[in-house]
Formats: sequence, C-alpha cells, structure tokens
Amino acid sequence: MQTYRNFIAGEWVESTSGKTAENVNPADTSDVLGVVRLSTRGEARRAVEAASDAFRAWRATPAPTRGRIVARAARLMEDDRENLARLLTREEGKTVAESRGELQRAINVAEFCAGESRRMNGETIQSELPANFAYTLRQPHGVVACVTPWNFPVAIPVWKIAPALVAGNTVVFKPATVTPATAVRICEIFAEAGLPAGVLNLVLGSGSEAGDEIVNHAAVRAISFTGSNGVGLKLYEQAARRGAKVQCEMGGKNPVVVLEDADLALAVESTAQGAFGSTGQRCTATSRAVVVDEIADAFVERIVARAESLRVGDGAAEGTDVGPIVDEGQFKSVLQYIDIGREDGAELLCGGTVPDGDSQAKGYFVRPAVFDRVTPDMRIAREEIFGPVLSVLRVRDFEEALRVANDSEYGLSSSVFTHDAARIFRFVDEIETGMTHVNSPTTGGEAHVPFGGSKATGIGEREQGSTALDFYTELKVVYVDYTGRKREGNLY
Ligand code: NDP
Repeated sequence: MQTYRNFIAGEWVESTSGKTAENVNPADTSDVLGVVRLSTRGEARRAVEAASDAFRAWRATPAPTRGRIVARAARLMEDDRENLARLLTREEGKTVAESRGELQRAINVAEFCAGESRRMNGETIQSELPANFAYTLRQPHGVVACVTPWNFPVAIPVWKIAPALVAGNTVVFKPATVTPATAVRICEIFAEAGLPAGVLNLVLGSGSEAGDEIVNHAAVRAISFTGSNGVGLKLYEQAARRGAKVQCEMGGKNPVVVLEDADLALAVESTAQGAFGSTGQRCTATSRAVVVDEIADAFVERIVARAESLRVGDGAAEGTDVGPIVDEGQFKSVLQYIDIGREDGAELLCGGTVPDGDSQAKGYFVRPAVFDRVTPDMRIAREEIFGPVLSVLRVRDFEEALRVANDSEYGLSSSVFTHDAARIFRFVDEIETGMTHVNSPTTGGEAHVPFGGSKATGIGEREQGSTALDFYTELKVVYVDYTGRKREGNLY
C-alpha cells in the first residue's frame, strides 16, 4: 500500500514517524487509498528551514517568471483534471461532478494569479515638496505557512499557494490529515511546473504536532489558515505574540432569506443546492432558511420534497446527488446534531437517518435533513454542523428576517430571495456577512472575486480576486528627493 511522502527541499522523503493514519474512502471504508506517516516536529522544522534557504533566490526571481510557473501548474492540472477529480472523490467523497467543479476553480485561481504576476504594481504619489515624490513597492514576507482543511482539498491549497508563490514567498504547506493524496498530487504538479527546490514544501502530519511546529516557527512570517474557529483563533493568538501576519477563514452558519414575493421554485432549488451540495460540507453551505410566515408552508413542503428526491450514495457512481460525510468523526457529529435538534424541540421533517442500502453499508452516509420550526436560540440554529442539515426558521416579516439572519456569531455568506429592489439593497447593506448573493445560493464564487467572511468567520485580508496578493505582500514606501539640497521647512 502507498505511503505518502513529505516534499522537502525538492525531495520526496518518507517521514520516520511511527505514528500513522489511514486514508480511507468515505463511501467505502474497506477501500484504503494509502497511509500517512504523521511527521515529527523535527521534520516540520526541516521543511521551514528548506523554505527559508530557498527564499532569497525565489524573491529575486522576476514576478512574471514566478507567474509563468504557476500558469504551467494550471495547465498541468487541466491535463490531469479527470484523474484528479476521481482521486478527490475517492478521498473526500463529493460527487465527481462536484470534484470537476472544484478542479476548475483551482485552475481558474492559478490562471488568475499567474496574470497578477505581471501587475504587482505599487503607486507613485505626488509630494508636498518640489522635486520630491514617493512610491510604493510590494515585497514578499519570506516563509509563509498554508494550513488547509479537508473539504476543498484541491481548491483551497491552490488559492493559498498560487498567490503566495507569485508574490515571491516560499511555502510550507500543511494539508488536512484526512486528505493527503490530493495534497501530494498538487505538490507534484507544482514541482513538475518548474518550481525550484525548497520553494514549496509539504508536511503531512497532525495539526497538533507538525502543524503546531510550523505555525509557531520563528521563520514563518505569515500564516494563511482555513478551518475551524477553535484551531484558527488559537493560531491567531499564538502568531500575535510574535507579530506574525495571520489570515483565517473559519466557520459559517449561512442564512438564506426568503420573502413573500420570492420566486418560490428558484428559492427552493437554490436552497437545496446550497444546503445539500457537497454534502453540506462547504463553509458557504446554506444551513439556515429564514422564511416569512406567508410562504413558509409552501416553502417547507417543496424543500422537503426536493431533499427526499436526492440520491445519496458513492460520489463516484453515476446519478449520485449527495456523497458521504468525510469521516467517522464528522459522521457521528452530524448524527449527534440531528438528536440535538429533536431534543431542543425542532421538527425533523425528513432525512437525518443512515440509508440502509447495500451500496451504502460501508460508507458514512446521511440522508439530507430538513428541520422546521427551529428557533434562533436552538443549537442547530447557532452552531456549524458541516453536514446536509437545513434548519427552517419562520419569521413574520422582512425586519424580523434581517434580525434573525444577523443573529449569529458567524458572517461568511448569505442570500436573499425577493424581487423588491428596495429590500434587496437594504439586505445587501445590513446583512452581516462578508459575501452575499441576490436570488442565488449562498455557495459559489469566482476566482477573480475576493472571498471571505466577517464577524467570527474571518481574520485578515480577503483571499482571491483583487485582494489575493494583499496578504502575501508587505507594502514598502519609498521617499525620493532629487533636489540635492538640505530640506527647509516641512520637517514633521
Ligand atoms: P480544522 O480546524 O480541524 O483543521 C484545519 C487544518 O488545521 C488541518 O490541516 C488541521 O490538521 C490543522 N490544524 C489542527 N490543529 C492545528 C494546530 N494546533 N496548529 C496548526 N494546524 C492545526 O478544520 P477541518 O479540517 O475540520 O475543516 C472544517 C472547518 O473548516 C469548518 O469549520 C469549516 O467551516 C471551515 N472552512 C472554512 C472555509 C472558509 O473559507 N471560511 C472554507 C472551508 C472550510 P489535521 O487535519 O491534522 O487536524
């Protein structure tokens, strides 16, 4: 069986650690893809040192040359898209169609970042003084750590690694332990695209050891993290003590608001897509539907019918709509939230059960669940479940809908369904989320558009789009005086 290796200083090296974890197909737990050795702290340190050693030469490489390598990586991903999509499905569980979509996102981001390498521009600034001016430069930090979750194991690493490299940083990449195979493949592709040794390093290992060692290493000047709030906030606190820069994208509890004049069929279909697509394991997944009383019965009847129509099964099989939950821990956690919802008094209208078909016997499957009559104080309305579970909260009117939608510690994504322009713009203005959608699902985003959340969801600059390079560069300000004379006046 394959043992995944670390990629350090341009070499594929097997960890010496005796601690291991199996990489298991969540649709069929008898299908073991490989074994991860959980790297030691020393191996993690070695990766940071390799990235440090490679920094000066990479920093001196012109940005368009760096961008060309990232563009080549995009082409290689495109050439290998089908294999990569199938590997992603086997490792993480999402349907092959969803995996292809994720691959396309990764390719788009890499292409976008490659283009950005040709305009890492600063600005020139007029001076108050004659024969003086100022300008700004964007410069890399040095070694950056990219720490990623399992739910988008190709797209998220690429949307961190590509801008980090284009900006001239060297990278230590620590992927989620449950998705090592795709992480290895991404690094193989970047290496094949022509990255010099040490510029990108991969460390497979547990967050609490290898991850902890990397993010707390003095040479790591910036950390880009996507994952849970518990881990992200701890990491933010630790990094703050040594003044390292941090960007965290964390949990969500994303609401869709459905008003009485909404196109009901569209609202239902979009809510189903948002809630059950990728098995609800998206940070932008719809987990709350805030629906005005007038149409709530009709909405609930249709969303239940839609949830029940979805075919749950192996993401690799033709016709599957909803794949498995990623692993046993998440599987148990989702089922526990179903119990919590019931105990708190919500009405479970469908799903939340484990299918009993032969083809599902060996996987972590849960039928899409819809809870009705959820109130804002219930745990299923407040906590991130990260599974195919939708809570319907009934409200009197638009004002209450806004209040309920904003009654969350999280602030990642949201959407509103109405044709009333005035209420659309009030919603856009007052909803407390980093991204919002009008008459479309809470999920989905484009490579050239900034991505990220507010409130407890996000810390630091937005990823992707026009802001992608902001996190990965330092702004240097340069004052130029070409008078050749001692400055008179204006000495502040
Ligand atoms: P975790 O926070 O458990 O893990 C994320 C990454 O951090 C993993 O690589 C993990 O390693 C690592 N890690 C864990 N502990 C430490 C530590 N002490 N120091 C350094 N690294 C550490 O998240 P999940 O992988 O479970 O992902 C699910 C979460 O991600 C959800 O909350 C979801 O909302 C969020 N997410 C947010 C997105 C956004 O853009 N807002 C997008 C996608 C997901 P290991 O795997 O070994 O534990």
